[in-house]
This record gives sequence, C-alpha cells and structure tokens, in this order.
Amino acid sequence: MNYKYFRIGTKAIHAGVEPDPSTGAIMTPIFQTSTYVQEGVGNHKGYAYSRTSNPTRNALEKSIAALESAKYGACFGSGLAAIDCVIKMLNPGDEVITSNDLYGGTYRIFTNIFAKYGIIFHFIDMNDEEEVLNYVNDKTRLIWVETPTNPMMNIIDIALMSKIAKQANAWLGVDNTFATPYLQQPIELGADIVMHSVTKYLGGHSDVVMGALVTSNEIIAKEMYRIQNSSGAITSPMDSFLVLRGIKTLHVRMQRHCENGEKVACYLNEHPKVENVFWPGFKSHPNHLIAKKQMSGFGGMISFSLKGENRDEALSLMTKFKVFSLAESLGGVESLVCHPSTMTHAALPEKDRKEAGIIDSLIRLSVGIEDIEDLIFDLEQALG
Ligand SMILES: *Cc1c(COP(=O)(O)O)cnc(C)c1O
Repeated sequence: MNYKYFRIGTKAIHAGVEPDPSTGAIMTPIFQTSTYVQEGVGNHKGYAYSRTSNPTRNALEKSIAALESAKYGACFGSGLAAIDCVIKMLNPGDEVITSNDLYGGTYRIFTNIFAKYGIIFHFIDMNDEEEVLNYVNDKTRLIWVETPTNPMMNIIDIALMSKIAKQANAWLGVDNTFATPYLQQPIELGADIVMHSVTKYLGGHSDVVMGALVTSNEIIAKEMYRIQNSSGAITSPMDSFLVLRGIKTLHVRMQRHCENGEKVACYLNEHPKVENVFWPGFKSHPNHLIAKKQMSGFGGMISFSLKGENRDEALSLMTKFKVFSLAESLGGVESLVCHPSTMTHAALPEKDRKEAGIIDSLIRLSVGIEDIEDLIFDLEQALG
C-alpha cells in the first residue's frame, strides 16, 4: 500500500505495517533473528543477514520515510549513529556549513571525530543569509541545519537553506528531532536528507535510543544503505517494534504537546520571577514568522530564564518539581526539566555557552502530555 497521499495520522498508524503474510498478525512481529535459511545458495526471501536487513526494522524504516514524505529510510543505533552515516558520505577536503547552536553531541562528532579525517566544518549564524553565502565555495558538500535549536529555540529557514544548497551543488540535511514530521516536513521544503534522534518524539516513551535518516534522492539512499550495512550501526528488532508502537500515537501526542506547550509558555511569560521565555509561538520570538511559515505548530519544548540570573536559585528550583522530572533528553510523554548549562550543554566552553545565550539561570522544559492543570500547579509551587 502506498501511503503517499494519506494524512499524517493515517500514515502514523498504517505506513510500513502490513499484516504478517505467514499468520495475518496485524502487528509486525519482532523478528528476533540474525540470519535466514536459504533454499539454495543465494535463493532467499529477500533477507540474508540482519545487519543488512530485518523485517521489523524494515517496517519501521518504511514508516518513518512515509511520515517524512520521503522514499527511503534507514534506522540506526542512535541519533548520532545516523549523523555519523551522513558525514561518512563525504570525502576528505569536503566542507560542511552548519550552525553555531547545534545539539552538543552533533558538535562533538563533527569536531572530535570527523575533523581529523579532513572534513572541514564551519559553525556560523545560519539566521544571517550573508554569513552563510560567505562560507559557500566549490568544496561545500553539505549544509546541516537543526531547527528549532536546543535549548534557545532559534528557527532556521529551511527553504532558504535549500535554495543556497542547490545553487552550491551541495546537499541540505535537516535534524528534524525537535519538530517531528507532524510539525515540519523538511523534504517538502527542499531538504535532501532528514535526520531524527528517534529517541525523542518518534519513540515518544523514553524507552529506546535510536536514530533515523530519510531521503528521496536515490544516490544518497544507495550511500546510506551501503554505510548502514558496512559500518553496522543498526538498531535492534525489539527497539524497532517499540518505536513502531510509539509512532502510532505520534499525531495525538504532538497535538497535546503543542497545547500544553502553549499554555506553559503563556503561564511562564506572565510569571513575576521569569525574565525571558524562549518559545517560537510567541509573536515576539525573533524567528516567529519563519516558524509560522514552515511549522504547523510550535511544539512542547520551552526554555526560560529567571530574573536576577542567579545560578543557585536555578539549581535549587530543579529539585522542587513534583510532576516534572529532572533529567536530560526530551520528547517523551512525561514532562522533564533540565538545567542546560550544567547538564546538556556542560561540554561547551563557558564563553561559547554565554554567547549562545545559555546563561546559568536558563531552564529547559520538555512539556509532556499530562493534564495541563497539574503541570501549571507544579510550576506554580516550584517557582513559589
Ligand atoms: C538527542 C539529539 C540528538 C542525538 O540523538 P541520540 O539518539 O541521543 O544519539 C541529535 N540531535 C538532537 C536535536 C537531539 O535532541
């Protein structure tokens, strides 16, 4: 069945998932097997070894590709393993233009792992079109965009970056982890590759670490599967099953993440102890118009700073929540709170952190899908 023309909720429930031909099981079984019996040498049913392909993983790969309006999908052992695959498509001397406001682990794999293989990374302000154009040259092979960014919730114009990439004969890759395909469709906006930390909203239940890539470009797809099989950073059948199950409620979860996110953002915006709230749904957000243009909602990720920029006050607040849990990660059904400058972004040098706006009184929320009254009550009692 081709789910291309269906809406996202129908795709989330059905795409990639066909009844099992041997039993009629409506749910794709967990094919917990490493190998497949061949009737004669090379005569098999399309599966020879589970690093190369596995039916449970394949169902998930089709599902994620369909959600992103892409033709091909591949799943990996983590979001960073998916990014690892993208950069392995490049050659020494190739240049990558990316933002100075990336997920810390992405910055680390670029600078600590791939820079020594001769790939050159430029970390710049991607909201400044001139600045991006200044770095384009005939070695530019990839423009890598993360939007919204973590934790400052900056928004980068995907269609504009796609135009620049096409003129430069380079690929555009988009990390769509924060927005999810429910809120943002980068392939439709001109991206060549979309990446996910499936760990977050796609999985949605904080029980799996996984990554994914999708593309509609046949050349990229061939490379993607070649590297997936050659480097072997695959995900397991069990985890694929869990994520297939998680994805079935993606649209319903995202609706509630957006509703709760908006109410929490508005509540914090009025709170006397809060200095700034970073959420792209506010008209006052510097990139609000781009967010409105390319996203169908603003999500449940919110950062805010306390008045007085007091680090100790922020740290002590972290221990006062009863519904929000103090933890890294995001995108699960449960609400989480974290302190970026000492947790998710501790690896950044202090100067870079301050420049990016990650001050010591900044707090990040992943607003879950609990009852909004209880979330507001929790914020109220914690902020005291
Ligand atoms: C978590 C995250 C990653 C890394 O994914 P893992 O699954 O933790 O390897 C990459 N990008 C963004 C935006 C993330 O939030």
